[in-house]
Amino acid sequence: MKISQRADNIPPSATVGMATRAKQMSRQGLDVISFAVGEPDFATPEHICQAAYQAMEAGHTKYTAASGIPELKEAVVARLRAEVGLSYDADQICISSGGKHALTNIWQTLLDEGDEVIVFAPYWVSYPAQIQLSGGRAVTVMTDASRGFQPDPAEVRSAVTPQTVAILVNSPANPTGAIFGQETLQEIAAIAAENDLTIISDEIYRNLIFDGRQHLSIAMLDEETKARTILVDGVSKSYAMTGWRIGWLIAPKDFATKAGSIQSQETHNPCSIAQYAALAALTGPQDCVAAMRDQYEQRRDFFVEALRQLEGIECNTPPAAFYLFPDISAHLGRSLAGQQIDTSLQLAEYLLEQGLISTVPGSAFGAEGFLRLSFACSVEDIKRGLQRLKTALEI
Ligand code: PMP
Ligand code: GLU
Repeated sequence: MKISQRADNIPPSATVGMATRAKQMSRQGLDVISFAVGEPDFATPEHICQAAYQAMEAGHTKYTAASGIPELKEAVVARLRAEVGLSYDADQICISSGGKHALTNIWQTLLDEGDEVIVFAPYWVSYPAQIQLSGGRAVTVMTDASRGFQPDPAEVRSAVTPQTVAILVNSPANPTGAIFGQETLQEIAAIAAENDLTIISDEIYRNLIFDGRQHLSIAMLDEETKARTILVDGVSKSYAMTGWRIGWLIAPKDFATKAGSIQSQETHNPCSIAQYAALAALTGPQDCVAAMRDQYEQRRDFFVEALRQLEGIECNTPPAAFYLFPDISAHLGRSLAGQQIDTSLQLAEYLLEQGLISTVPGSAFGAEGFLRLSFACSVEDIKRGLQRLKTALEI
């Protein structure tokens, strides 16, 4: 059957792909330890599940407004105001089927053919593919571990061309866990202002910041920056609600309205029951968020410390999110169990097949020489996975 060039040119998501392979191997009875997917291992808190049962009983099983129920938009506004002091109106919000969907709505609303978006690498796998699907082009600016994955403003400036329409900020970041400092954010805001660019700020990990640090959104810098910024957030990571598929964008009203129009043609509303569950998440007790964050922080400390003991692996301590992103380049160019390993993809394949550990190769994030290891799993799994890593790498 005919396949469009558009479909033909898009690779499948590497994070989803590795996670799916690990699940398939588990179903075949293999004891695979998954460090692949960025998904909380915690169950969705009980009061949120109860709200979903009640929503069904109350008959909230019909279409809602395409851009989401007003109560949920009001709850997003209230939570953001309470947590970071940012004020928005409910009509600046479009609720979607996950942050990923909110992002695709943004690209569809923002981009014309040939428009460029500056994306910092290592980047989350889906950004360049999504931008490409909407006719745009991701222009990457590399950041490196030695500078804590902070971009060099001079490199950002030189990446701007007449086709540039936006800069994408993901702080805290997937896959590095990096947080952009105030100065970095100010530099990015200044470059956006000089060139009249839109800023897209994906803040889905803002509740998973460690060591007592506070979240700083680029929209908090000043009113002018806020006015040119579109925020992306959702309940997946903060409330362990990945399967419920609720996320949102917050933008100037006309942009949010257009995104809602696109959504009304494409998918209509996100699941009505999940919207009521998300409402309970945002308006109910918040101690579950802190409790899960504390667990991630303990796992991070254990994992990073133990990983650093392994020869040929260098790893920053991520200040946020739930990923380690170690430099494994010392292991490339080696032969392991008779297999030549030259790329992070070959290493990830080898670790999955020979070591029964699933990881995601750095190349999927635009950073060859690294592996991403999620620590959204138990300390027991981390311990067992480390032992397997050691054996598989013969160190
Ligand atoms: N942004 C980033 C950086 C992510 O890692 C994810 C995780 N998939 C998302 C957005 C979207 O998450 P979701 O669609 O589950 O809300
Ligand atoms: N964001 C998560 C990850 O990076 C979930 C999978 C995905 O949507 O990419 O693993």
